[in-house]
Amino acid sequence: MRNESILITAGPTREKIDPVRFISNYSTGTFGYEIAKEAKRRGLRVTLISGPTCLKAPAGVKTIAIESAVDMFKAVMKEYAKHKYVIMAAAVSDWRVRFPSQGKIKRRGRGRTLYLVENPDILAEIGRKKDGVVAGFALETEALEKNAAEKLRKKNADIIIANRLSRKKDVFGARAPMDVLMLDRRGEVSVFRRKTKRELAKIILDKVLNFNI
Ligand code: C5P
Repeated sequence: MRNESILITAGPTREKIDPVRFISNYSTGTFGYEIAKEAKRRGLRVTLISGPTCLKAPAGVKTIAIESAVDMFKAVMKEYAKHKYVIMAAAVSDWRVRFPSQGKIKRRGRGRTLYLVENPDILAEIGRKKDGVVAGFALETEALEKNAAEKLRKKNADIIIANRLSRKKDVFGARAPMDVLMLDRRGEVSVFRRKTKRELAKIILDKVLNFNI
């Protein structure tokens, strides 16, 4: 039993357009939940801050349900200082609607413009503030290593796990094996091929829990 604790974010966020509509993404939360379950198996105290998913809250894990990126930001800000390790696996929406409508928007026979503003970058904020180990994800459609290395630097993370969104394979919620790159702030790059998210959860925790900053 390790007397240590870890904070994990998972799932998509939802950004309200009106009381019945939202902007979101295809994240299922699978990766973050697998990491939370594996951390629990290893005897850590686990807090999971999760956007809306169809997954069952893992047993013995303190799960905080949020909806929007701003909700997630507030929850992370309240929690992070209590944890030695932070893994941000959530697919946070980069934008939100500036003025969500109070009532359901009616169809008026013409187009509509949604005015979007940027959401806070939660990982970057934690990268600035945190003493412990901070890991994030990068989902890229091109130049995987270059973009992941840039993300590592810009967000001041210790570790970035990068995977590619290709047209052939669906990475969201996929049970099928996937290839990932893991980069750390010292310039170490590891490649893992054909691993399931459960296998990758173990690999990621091995790295995070043994990372000396
Ligand atoms: O910038 P991008 O979304 O590609 O970065 C991905 C990483 O940053 C993930 O670890 C994600 O959880 C985190 N992130 C965040 N807040 C945002 C956007 C991304 O924490 N607003």
